[in-house]
Amino acid sequence: MSTLKITNLSKTYPNGVKALNNVSIELENGMFGLLGPNGAGKSSLMRTLATLQEADSGTATLDDIDILNQPAELRKVLGYLPQEFGVYPRISAEQLLDHLAILKGFINAKERKEMVKYLLDKVNLYDKRKKSVKGFSGGMKQRIGIAQALIGNPKLIIVDEPTAGLDPGERNRFYNLLANVGKEVIVILSTHIVDDVRELCTKMAIMNFGEIVYHGAPDTAINELQDKVYQKIIELQELEEYASRYSIISNKMVGGKPLIHISSDANPGDGFEKVKPNLEDVFFSKINTNNVLV
Ligand code: ADP
Repeated sequence: MSTLKITNLSKTYPNGVKALNNVSIELENGMFGLLGPNGAGKSSLMRTLATLQEADSGTATLDDIDILNQPAELRKVLGYLPQEFGVYPRISAEQLLDHLAILKGFINAKERKEMVKYLLDKVNLYDKRKKSVKGFSGGMKQRIGIAQALIGNPKLIIVDEPTAGLDPGERNRFYNLLANVGKEVIVILSTHIVDDVRELCTKMAIMNFGEIVYHGAPDTAINELQDKVYQKIIELQELEEYASRYSIISNKMVGGKPLIHISSDANPGDGFEKVKPNLEDVFFSKINTNNVLV
């Protein structure tokens, strides 16, 4: 069992944007979802943990490794699938993994061959091992991305926005793969897609404007909203009026009309019906969007 401990991590970019503001979280083995809207600071946190950029202050440790001061040590036990794992050369899946394993320090050819076979099997691409990675579908590319992140038995795996651009079938296969991987190590899944976290994670944090605004189990957060979420379909031109009278947490178009969810301690009447809260309600209520009118 490993422990990743992040304490008071802060980072302000030279342009003045405070991307991380006193971030503290502690996590152990399993799938951890880091949810937040675009610009929340998720990638900044992921890149800092992957030792690709420095923080201004704070600490981060993985067991006895001081991540900020011992980047080389951390890299030995890190698997990273960046937001843009963009270089797909015209070589086969097998050759690519073999090459990346050499870069990770696996110099024994026989050992490497075994490992590449194991990884291709694990991500269900063994049949495609001789095919050029360039021609792979989005889902297959992401699976190769996971295979390379698994080289060398990492203790910490970071995946940044991995399901963007995948079709529903590919997304499901990718979820299954990640769920399987996540049993044995710490996996941090950074995403703005609520479904990713609902399907996969038992623990999560929600980030907004560089801060952790919620940390806990998705179910706990959903339970906190029990009996507090009401919905109604309204007319488009009524939206502004409703926004001034109620605390709208989300607004979705259904058949051309806004379906609004509001949070309210008591039944508001007025044609609203109570709904079972979901993770999307949690997400929007925690990030307190003011963009329901746009
Ligand atoms: P997320 O991954 O949640 O979308 P990011 O960590 O990419 O968020 O960005 C957080 C904030 O920091 C955003 O306002 C973004 O514009 C800003 N930002 C990210 N990288 C840089 C950079 N290299 N220089 C300046 N600002 C940056």
